[in-house]
Amino acid sequence: SKAPPVVTRFAPSPTGYLHIGGARTALFNWLYARHHGGRVLLRIEDTDRKRSTQDAIDKIIDGLDWLGLEFDEPPLFQSDRAERHAEVARKLLDAGHAYKCYATPEELEAMRAEQRANKQPMRYDRRWRDRHESEAPEGAPYVIRLKVPTEGETTIADEVQGKVTVRNAEIDDYVLLRADGTPTYMLAVVVDDHDMGVTHIIRGDDHLNNAFRQLPIIRAMDAIEGGWPDPVYAHVPLIHGPDGAKMSKRHGAVGVEAYRDDEGVLPEALFNYLLRLGWGHGDREEITKSEAIELFDLDGVGKGPARFDIKKLQNL
Ligand code: GLU
Repeated sequence: SKAPPVVTRFAPSPTGYLHIGGARTALFNWLYARHHGGRVLLRIEDTDRKRSTQDAIDKIIDGLDWLGLEFDEPPLFQSDRAERHAEVARKLLDAGHAYKCYATPEELEAMRAEQRANKQPMRYDRRWRDRHESEAPEGAPYVIRLKVPTEGETTIADEVQGKVTVRNAEIDDYVLLRADGTPTYMLAVVVDDHDMGVTHIIRGDDHLNNAFRQLPIIRAMDAIEGGWPDPVYAHVPLIHGPDGAKMSKRHGAVGVEAYRDDEGVLPEALFNYLLRLGWGHGDREEITKSEAIELFDLDGVGKGPARFDIKKLQNL
């Protein structure tokens, strides 16, 4: 059978600026989709209501637009989809791939204190995995946790990182749905990627651990109703400053619009610079948008952290 058409997405959390790392992730997703004649979608991950702001949403959308990265559909707002996320949690629960956990915050705190004292890894001890809800007090609040397989291991053949394997016993039975019925980030991402038809997940390698927690949802839903294939993953190394430390404010890790407004950087220059951050295309200095679309693929993405140097950008 023919591989489905490529669908990528950029999924920023609107808690601040469109920073250099995010802009590069967006660019790689955009280029990959364009190279393969696919589609690229934008999802605003605004479920953290306290930290998400309209100003950040506007700045991200503005910055992407200025960079020339157009999307193939209007943005999807994750906060609009809480009911759908809860529906998937219920399906997992009904099919026995998830369970209700009635542990109180005090019980969980005591559990963590004990693990800390015994120098054990701090992780939910699955205390409600094999208990029946009839053991809980009448009407007590509960969360829904994913029943992650404890046997065997999971391997991801990442397009950038290569094969990465994790023992399933190390993956938490983490929370899908909170006691107030709201979805967790981990659940929301998986459901949205599925419903948007995303085939390729290209994002920072700070999310590689999450992939091992997200895959069990995908596989459980595929077992339940089919049509939930594993996505292709590409976890791109984070950008570091010229001193080798993770990018932060002191490296100029400000929003893209600061380069535009304060430094007078042109969008073509930033496009080129971002492209070269972690993607090798030989010795070529300048590359046009159409050449980039023609040449871009994930093979060229390096495994080591890219180094950001504001002086180079200023000299473009
Ligand atoms: N919203 C996440 C972030 O901004 C990205 C999630 C993802 O790409 O899966 O880090």
